[in-house]
Amino acid sequence: MKIKNGAEYIESLRKLKTRIYFKGKKIKDVTRNPATAPHVRAAAMTYALANKEKYTDLATAASHLTGRKISRFTHVHQNVEDLIKKIKLLRVLGQKTGTCFQRCVGLDGINAVYSVTYEIDEKYGTDYLERLKKWMIYIQDENLMVVGAMTDPKGDRSKGPSDQSDPDQYVHVVDRRPDGIVIRGAKLHMTGAVNSHEILVMPTTALNEQSKDYAVVCAIPIDDPGITLIFGRQTGDDRRDRLERIDVGKPKFGVVGGEALIAFENVFVPTERVFMDGEVDFTGSLVYRFAAHHRANYGACKTGLMDVLTGAVSYLAQIQGTAKASHIKDKVTEMIHLSETLYSSSIACSAEGVPTPSGAYLVDTMLANVCKQNVTRFHFEVSRLATDIAGGFLATMPSEYDLKSEDVGHLVKKYFSGVAGIPVEERIKIGRLIEAMTGGTAMVESMHGAGSPQAQRIMIFREGKLAEKIKLAKALAGIPSKKAEIKDSNY
Ligand code: SF4
Ligand code: FE
Repeated sequence: MKIKNGAEYIESLRKLKTRIYFKGKKIKDVTRNPATAPHVRAAAMTYALANKEKYTDLATAASHLTGRKISRFTHVHQNVEDLIKKIKLLRVLGQKTGTCFQRCVGLDGINAVYSVTYEIDEKYGTDYLERLKKWMIYIQDENLMVVGAMTDPKGDRSKGPSDQSDPDQYVHVVDRRPDGIVIRGAKLHMTGAVNSHEILVMPTTALNEQSKDYAVVCAIPIDDPGITLIFGRQTGDDRRDRLERIDVGKPKFGVVGGEALIAFENVFVPTERVFMDGEVDFTGSLVYRFAAHHRANYGACKTGLMDVLTGAVSYLAQIQGTAKASHIKDKVTEMIHLSETLYSSSIACSAEGVPTPSGAYLVDTMLANVCKQNVTRFHFEVSRLATDIAGGFLATMPSEYDLKSEDVGHLVKKYFSGVAGIPVEERIKIGRLIEAMTGGTAMVESMHGAGSPQAQRIMIFREGKLAEKIKLAKALAGIPSKKAEIKDSNY
């Protein structure tokens, strides 16, 4: 692995010429800009853990392509153990950063594309998998961060890609040359894009024959001159200056992943970096496999965040003298129960993983959808309980300016104190951490990341095997089943 640790990862980003805009201005150094630096540090943790003896087994793997030691974030899952190790790794990273560390999107993209290119090649005699393997060996040996770019802007949602009045609402091929393709369009909400090295472009939805030009998978260096990134605003990002470090709540790491719009303005992609071009019949399984892997992750990374939140409110309750109250203990118990329940579904869908024809393992897709659906509820319930335990203080805390003011600092210290012996600054720091983890942008990712709740409900219903369940009920009720009725396509 060429990039060996967090510091080298940060240094590698400084060498790129990525075009990033934030609040109308170009970001000169993504590793130092206060808006993006926290996300860089969160992603750097994925590099740092690989060197910590306690976590090496989780954070690294042996490449099935070269046999060399690689980051697990560049690995193709070879068995159920790999799937479970990834889940354990994500929980640890969630605990250590309290935020999204971004690197899983590329990992899930690589795994989905790997299994699907194998199947495309089988059917059409193409050589996509060989191209992908060459690119992957580069990614693995260099130890690069890849942003998995799936979500298109979609324009008018009532229309498909080829019916849009603006064809660029979905990324598509605009030109084919002997040595490659040219693509145009954009991807939205791209987690970790500003601090990645490479982009793996994938279609956002299952496509039909009319949309062949939209069925494109390819890899592009993030600092290609045809690419522009616009970094999104987050709750409290104006607080990110040196003086207001306490008010940020989590000064070292970001609130969420750090999302950006990626615009592709006639970007040339050489043939060896194209992994799908027009095979619309494989777009559905590609999107679904990617989504399943990513939905499985959410029960792990978000559990890590919920662990931090549970710790934060428990300590705040100690500071405020409420820790021994039975209703507080009961709420903390509920937070732990929900966190562990969520984690169980991440482990379960990994334990039930199966090999695809390529040999790459895929999580159990039904359980992965259930896992992500639970995130959209349990993380919110845990945040609600945390807000309940913390009290209205979360919304009324004075700023760090007042805490440190010569004129009024003594009043803040006197009237925001808790039990004797704990500095008021600790109460405010923990309060700000809880505020950052429960409010605004922080929770949106748990609702919409890896697909909005409805996306999971569609798949849960589709995979629910209702016909089989009806057959079970009929058998027990003594009602004969006709063969024709027992088809899930009836639902
Ligand atoms: Fe990874 Fe979770 Fe962030 Fe997705 S939301 S990239 S799974 S840390
Ligand atoms: Fe995400």
